[in-house]
Amino acid sequence: MSRFFSKKYEKLIPYTPGEQPQDMQYIKLNTNESPFSPHPAVAQAVAGEIDKLRLYSDPDSKTLTALLAQQLGVDPDQVMLTNGSDDVLNFAFMAFCDEAHPAIFPDITYGFYKVFAEVNGVPYTQIPLKEDFSVDITDYCGAGKTIFIANPNAPTGIALTRAQVEEIVKSNPNSVVVIDEAYVDFGGESAVPLIEKYDNLLVVQTFSKSRSMAGARLGFAVGSKALIGDLNTLRYSTNPYNINRMTAAAGVATLQNSDYTVKNCQTIMENREWTVKALKEFDFTLTDSKANFLFAKHPSIDGKTLYQKLKQRGVLVRHFDKARISDYVRITVGTAEEMQTLIGKIGEILEETK
Ligand code: PMP
Repeated sequence: MSRFFSKKYEKLIPYTPGEQPQDMQYIKLNTNESPFSPHPAVAQAVAGEIDKLRLYSDPDSKTLTALLAQQLGVDPDQVMLTNGSDDVLNFAFMAFCDEAHPAIFPDITYGFYKVFAEVNGVPYTQIPLKEDFSVDITDYCGAGKTIFIANPNAPTGIALTRAQVEEIVKSNPNSVVVIDEAYVDFGGESAVPLIEKYDNLLVVQTFSKSRSMAGARLGFAVGSKALIGDLNTLRYSTNPYNINRMTAAAGVATLQNSDYTVKNCQTIMENREWTVKALKEFDFTLTDSKANFLFAKHPSIDGKTLYQKLKQRGVLVRHFDKARISDYVRITVGTAEEMQTLIGKIGEILEETK
């Protein structure tokens, strides 16, 4: 730390992203990316922007916003695009949390919520998930605080129904409820249809998972015109050109080929179910994941050892050194072939540790 670093950040512990080895030698099942390339039309769309890179991008990403709004069934002024959904989650902490509006979120959830609260000096409470890792909605109903819930949750994959989300939103009319739907396309129920009814609901989604665009950084929020207006005030006060030309073009081409996204999600869900069955045959315990990852533990090998042994064999999964979940590993669902390799390697490891 330099002697110039602001005292207000002295104790800040930054978010630890999952490993991103650059040599590509692993079967990468650790950061919930898509195993499928973007649609071929994306490459063409991106190439078409190269010549225009000398010009700034459209700060309102009008073409992309209009297409996205149309597909979501909302108005363009109910959508705001950001540099990955992390960007908009940070804006939500900045915009809707302060001393009078502390944040609450589960104890086991996306680790960045805590960091966003800390960096923005927002008071926060972490609410323990139930023993089975599900969210007890009664903890949030009428809480009167700014609520952040990942649905499906990470790293558990457990989802709330839209009706449960509605109960939380309805019972907190004077607080903003942020539903982070990074993984909703793999079998969850989106809360987007509720935004017409509730002006306190903000839904956040991303192009990073189901839409194969993690490296392009594109996320968005959907909510009432007023909430989106607040977020835009902050976006225009920090970085109005947050979406670069290539990413915007990639986003448009991806949305124009949404059948491809749907088909890929279907494949991931099939591969997920196949992997669940195979892991259960090995005696793993799993949460009921509705996401593109599994959360699993084995009675005879702890999470860290399994992670290490898989890594030695060229398969990267994620382990969290954290109370309540250190026995588990989180495994991104990849192609059928990758899942077969994973199961083969796990078989070898269990055999060896007998
Ligand atoms: N929300 C959740 C629950 C996530 O797991 C992630 C991915 N790490 C994000 C948001 C952020 O994803 P991105 O910034 O790539 O959109």
